[in-house]
Amino acid sequence: MTGGLNVLKAKKPKPKKCPICKTKFTPDRPLQIVCSPLCANKYQKQQKENQQKQAEDESRRNWRKRKADAKPLSHWKNMTQRVFNDYIRARDRGNGCISCGIKNAVSFHAGHFRTTKAASQLRFNEDNVHLQCSACNVHKSGDIGPYRLNLIKKIGLERVMALESNNEEHRYTREELDGIRALYRKKLRDIEKQHLEAA
Ligand SMILES: [Zn+2]
Ligand SMILES: [Zn+2]
Repeated sequence: MTGGLNVLKAKKPKPKKCPICKTKFTPDRPLQIVCSPLCANKYQKQQKENQQKQAEDESRRNWRKRKADAKPLSHWKNMTQRVFNDYIRARDRGNGCISCGIKNAVSFHAGHFRTTKAASQLRFNEDNVHLQCSACNVHKSGDIGPYRLNLIKKIGLERVMALESNNEEHRYTREELDGIRALYRKKLRDIEKQHLEAA
């Protein structure tokens, strides 16, 4: 018989609440968690279920992330362009079409001065994208002559020429696109708030 054992025996565990059946009990052993073998059984089962659920949640999270990572960059470019274009339409609301000036068109687009194909580096440039009626945007392929004239009136020749001489190719990264999307979501929210306050 050792002294250590005596000490352990002498220490009387405090009463605690059983997490399963909620009754108060005094444990026989210091590490005892539940009141009875029956509750121990239930407790074990519960722990196992929790662990399983956690594992499932984790694998679902991983799957979602893998799926997002597997999307091609073009997907994120399109998603970002959509948000950016929404912002442009909100910014130019009421201005009318940049090419023909119509104010009551059936639908308005965000029309690129230099196309995303010709100058992808300008696809998210605010000087390069303006409100445009769908007729000019789609059917007259941007109607670029009047677009240029009106763009000069709007932002000045210098800035138009800066767009026209910008030929630096740019490769977007996923992180960069995420950042642009977040920025224009915020700008869109801010401008919509302004519209509401003005109304
Ligand atoms: Zn119990
Ligand atoms: Zn138009």
